[in-house]
Amino acid sequence: MARWDVLVVGAGPAGSTAARELASAGARVLVTDRAVFPRYKACGGGIAVRTERLLPFPIEQVVEAAVSIVQLRHGARQVVSKDGGRPFARMVMRDRFDALLMEKALEAGAEFRPGTTVRAIDEEVRGVRVVADGFEAEAAFVIGADGANSAVARSAGLAQGMYECAAWEIEARVPARTSQSLRESCVLGLGYRPWGYAWAFPKDARLSIGVVLPQGRTRDLRLATQQFIGSLGLPGMEIERAQGHKVRSRRGGERIATDRVVLAGDAAGLADEFTQEGIFYAVRSGQLAAREALCALAEDGLVAAYEHAVDAEIMPELRAARLIAYMFYGMSRHLGSAWLRVARPMGFLWEAFFEAQRGDSSYARELGRAPLLARAAAARVDRR
Ligand SMILES: Cc1cc2nc3c(=O)[nH]c(=O)nc-3n(C[C@H](O)[C@H](O)[C@H](O)COP(=O)(O)OP(=O)(O)OC[C@H]3O[C@@H](n4cnc5c(N)ncnc54)[C@H](O)[C@@H]3O)c2cc1C
Repeated sequence: MARWDVLVVGAGPAGSTAARELASAGARVLVTDRAVFPRYKACGGGIAVRTERLLPFPIEQVVEAAVSIVQLRHGARQVVSKDGGRPFARMVMRDRFDALLMEKALEAGAEFRPGTTVRAIDEEVRGVRVVADGFEAEAAFVIGADGANSAVARSAGLAQGMYECAAWEIEARVPARTSQSLRESCVLGLGYRPWGYAWAFPKDARLSIGVVLPQGRTRDLRLATQQFIGSLGLPGMEIERAQGHKVRSRRGGERIATDRVVLAGDAAGLADEFTQEGIFYAVRSGQLAAREALCALAEDGLVAAYEHAVDAEIMPELRAARLIAYMFYGMSRHLGSAWLRVARPMGFLWEAFFEAQRGDSSYARELGRAPLLARAAAARVDRR
């Protein structure tokens, strides 16, 4: 049976990033994915500029739009737009974006086995056995980057009891009558109870449109998406693809590492509760996982310290996003469409969002500017 330094399960942004960094440093890495690439991934495809800044190569070749305008909507009539002056996000289709990231991992020397569904892992004292359909391999360490339904997490007994919500995503051809503002803005629809939002992100000839709602309201996702499309004035669009997906969020304390197995990205629940954005955290956790595995390989050590690295570097940002979500959606719930009128003149709020998305600031730093508000929100959130 083949033995690898690191076997990475899942070739999304978390897995391909971990693999690229490991292979660049000389480790023997195998990546497996159940899909054959390029593969579709239900996702808005919004790549915050801060995510791009983590990558050591340009992504221009897969960028379909650069967005500097946020448009908040409540129904069809209440609309507020803010232009950040320069892009805060770029829009991609995930099949092309993920294929590019994987191509970079291959160039660095990683090996790839697509079409290989991992069923279970078996952690032993000296290594980990990975069992997939028609394939088995051993590795000193395993990185589970296999998404929100992670088989690695299940098999290792990790990432249990996380907060869950669900999203519905459609890819639609842009009708000729689509307004310029829809073609160049990141459009976000509010007004869902108890929280949630809809989005329309521009691509070359398409819009990626979706809605995220908390668990318990997932039955409403399709109808909410149809209503949002109607509110955009685009009923009867040509829908090419529609797919639902679970989103899980780690709130702190849930185990995401053993001695020889770590979880990265969605497998570890590293999606924020304000925007449900996860690609930034997937890339960053992939880097942290690679760093810990390289240290462990060099010192004949273990990777359990990865959890501390995530706790120190990623969890404060996820915590801040959760507190901001509590305040933002709370205001939206209490004020309804008036929230847009209240928020419109609050230039510092819009600027904070743009700065965090660009990586010139962070949610944690921006929240730190309002310590009393943050403490009040934390007290409420922690009581729930
Ligand atoms: C509808 C929706 C819209 C979103 N929009 C955005 C957005 O606009 N911007 C943003 O930043 N985030 C967004 N997110 C979140 C983002 O999609 C994820 O956070 C991101 O894809 C996580 O990357 P990952 O590498 O951890 O996992 P994934 O991208 O899910 O990759 C996991 C990989 O593992 C493979 N896999 C799964 N199981 C197995 C198995 N058993 N064996 C082998 N391989 C397996 C899969 O085929 C897949 O390729 C959205 C999420 C949803 C659901």
